[in-house]
Amino acid sequence: MKHSKFGINTICTHVGEVTDEQFKGAVSPIYLSTSYEFEGVDVKRYPRYFNTPNQEHLVKKIAALEHTEGALIFGSGMAALSAMFLTFLKSGDHLVVQNTLYGGASHFIREEFPKYGIEFTFTDGYDVSDFEAAIQPNTKLIHIETPSNPLLTITDIEGVAKLAKAHNLLSSIDNTFASPINQTPIDFGIDIVMHSATKYLGGHSDILAGALAASDELIGEIWHVAKNFGGNLSDFTVWMLERSMKTLALRVKVQTKNARKLAKYLDKHPDVKQVYYPGLKAHPQHKLAKKQMHGFGAMMSFVLRDGLESLKFQKQLQLIKSSMSLAGVESTVLSPYLTSHALLTQEERDAIGISNQLIRFSVGIESIKDLKADIEQALKNIT
Ligand SMILES: *Cc1c(COP(=O)(O)O)cnc(C)c1O
Repeated sequence: MKHSKFGINTICTHVGEVTDEQFKGAVSPIYLSTSYEFEGVDVKRYPRYFNTPNQEHLVKKIAALEHTEGALIFGSGMAALSAMFLTFLKSGDHLVVQNTLYGGASHFIREEFPKYGIEFTFTDGYDVSDFEAAIQPNTKLIHIETPSNPLLTITDIEGVAKLAKAHNLLSSIDNTFASPINQTPIDFGIDIVMHSATKYLGGHSDILAGALAASDELIGEIWHVAKNFGGNLSDFTVWMLERSMKTLALRVKVQTKNARKLAKYLDKHPDVKQVYYPGLKAHPQHKLAKKQMHGFGAMMSFVLRDGLESLKFQKQLQLIKSSMSLAGVESTVLSPYLTSHALLTQEERDAIGISNQLIRFSVGIESIKDLKADIEQALKNIT
């Protein structure tokens, strides 16, 4: 049976299993060998070549979920992203990249690209016209991130993919926030999908990993470069990731449903000034999100009313934890003005909507009534 015929939960559970031929166990055995037979074998296996049994199998699950042929897994999201950038960009080339970008990716571009002589332009906005305006004669790649962090802006995936094709450029997307359960950008013509698997794919806040998914041809090109950089994931963690991904669709669907309910609840709350969630009709790109997402995701941000500081609110929460990261089964919050955007001045932050009242919310799988009760008591206790 072809993988593409399977339903999403079947892909999560079964595609990419390593069959236990020897003992017929229910789960994939872990192959921790770093040393494999060299003579008379079809595949010369070595972990850094991405071809140990666990690595080779798990990528099938990721490729199937992203509606494409191939994938590679890495030691972190940044290892995946840097391998992708440094495969398709060389000295003298130019990258067009969305201005609202994950902080680590933005630092990588600003700090490392100049050393390699790679040029880049951060767009002024996230309309297709902003990407078009940034294209140079030496542009090779357009990289987007949607929904974005922390204000959940939506970029037109199909529009950017078409723009890239019209200019003979490659296009790539950071699909971490949506996960393949809520968004499959290859369907809209994007060439390369990147994930911080540390987030939804792992989903339990205990794995650092990354992934790229694309056609076999593009994955082959990335492979040639990535094996030189050596940012592989240990096979033990590969196995943990496979185990986590069995429940990916189950988790993300519950998280998405919770997020939608909480967004509506917060939107009506007198202590909340604004909610940023693509699932709300009032979101400026709600229609676009509806067109390109299977679900609106489980990330949102909201602004407390004037006088209520996000950090004080955060400290009152009892069930919902404060966390730098996101996408675990547990609900977490952070204050972007103290974390991702701490290095900006207050003025710079205000200009891009990162106020001291803004809270980023990664919604977990907990019972919705308990999440609401926690938010309610926290708001009551800071006022
Ligand atoms: C966390 C994150 C990354 C970086 O991934 P690491 O696994 O920390 O290297 C990239 N993009 C987004 C959107 C992220 O949330």
